Amino acid sequence: MRSLPGRLVLLGHPVAHSLSPRFQNAALRAAGIPLVYEALDVRPDALRATLAELARVAASGNVTIPHKEAVAACCHRRSALAERCGAVNTFWHEDGQLIGDNTDVGGVDAIASALLGSARSTATVALLGAGGSAAAVVAAVERWGDARVRLYNRHVDRARALAARFGAVVEVVDSVEQALDGATLVVNATPVGLKNDGFPVPVDALPPGAAVFDLVYRANETAWVRAARDAGHRAADGEGMLIEQGALSFERWFGVVPDRGAMWRALH
Ligand code: NAP
Repeated sequence: MRSLPGRLVLLGHPVAHSLSPRFQNAALRAAGIPLVYEALDVRPDALRATLAELARVAASGNVTIPHKEAVAACCHRRSALAERCGAVNTFWHEDGQLIGDNTDVGGVDAIASALLGSARSTATVALLGAGGSAAAVVAAVERWGDARVRLYNRHVDRARALAARFGAVVEVVDSVEQALDGATLVVNATPVGLKNDGFPVPVDALPPGAAVFDLVYRANETAWVRAARDAGHRAADGEGMLIEQGALSFERWFGVVPDRGAMWRALH
């Protein structure tokens, strides 16, 4: 195991804090690591001061909304995936330097593999949304071989800006219907369904046999995931991605594989 950080923290807005401390602390207990994972409510204007304070104790941690891009800009070194996404969700210190990585991409990889198996490598992905999590989805898809993304966002300029960063793997389309045409995986990377039972697209508009991956997570899954599964689609909400990105972060911090079963049990 690597030497332990002075603190282990989640930097973000309180609304994004609810689940990670529960499963990270379960993983720490299961591994016998004498640290407590703390959620820190950090306002954007306090981020640099907080990072300076954390550097003094060689802290490690996660980053969530709204700081992923800002922390990326503060890192001395970034992994190739963090560079590709322009966002850091995992950090640690080495020789006084702040190192940033992005394990959201690995979280997307894991769920897409569970849903599609070997068909992941030729997937046609209908991607709804063009924000930070959509960037992690595109960064994942471009490593899958011959997979492609059809990207729809209600503000097309944001979709075009994301596509411009990634090139030929992404085609920006003008309607949800175009995005869904021939899709083998439909991904919701918008907040639709987070606060109510809204659907990003109607279930009867999903292509036959398409798998559904909702990055949104709620207690007892999202209504869209439940309805898609009832209609015969393989479907997963964002909880699996959340746990997997956290498990991959744990591996980066400690060089130890966490007990994913303990992490799941902490949420259920
Ligand atoms: P973000 O950067 O704010 O981007 C949000 C995207 O959703 C934008 O493209 C936005 O479109 C679109 N959007 C917002 N409201 C919409 C609406 N009512 N109808 C249609 N499109 C809408 O957010 P993010 O960080 O990508 O996160 C998106 C969601 O993914 C979050 O709500 C969160 O629940 C989930 N998430 C899950 C995980 C996980 O580990 N499972 C990780 C990250 C995020 P415009 O550009 O047109 O405004």
